[in-house]
Amino acid sequence: MVQQEERYKGKGLRRCKLCGNSRGMIRAHKLYICRRCFREVAKELGFVKYG
Ligand SMILES: [Zn+2]
Repeated sequence: MVQQEERYKGKGLRRCKLCGNSRGMIRAHKLYICRRCFREVAKELGFVKYG
């Protein structure tokens, strides 16, 4: 189902929806955020600590 999300976003338009950074992007869980933001979001969502 992730491919559908990519198609919607388009090529090279994947950015962190929190800080806008395109580096270290994570699209797991359909979050589309960077690693940095993911760590903070993961806390709230209860995900296992990443990295
Ligand atoms: Zn971010």
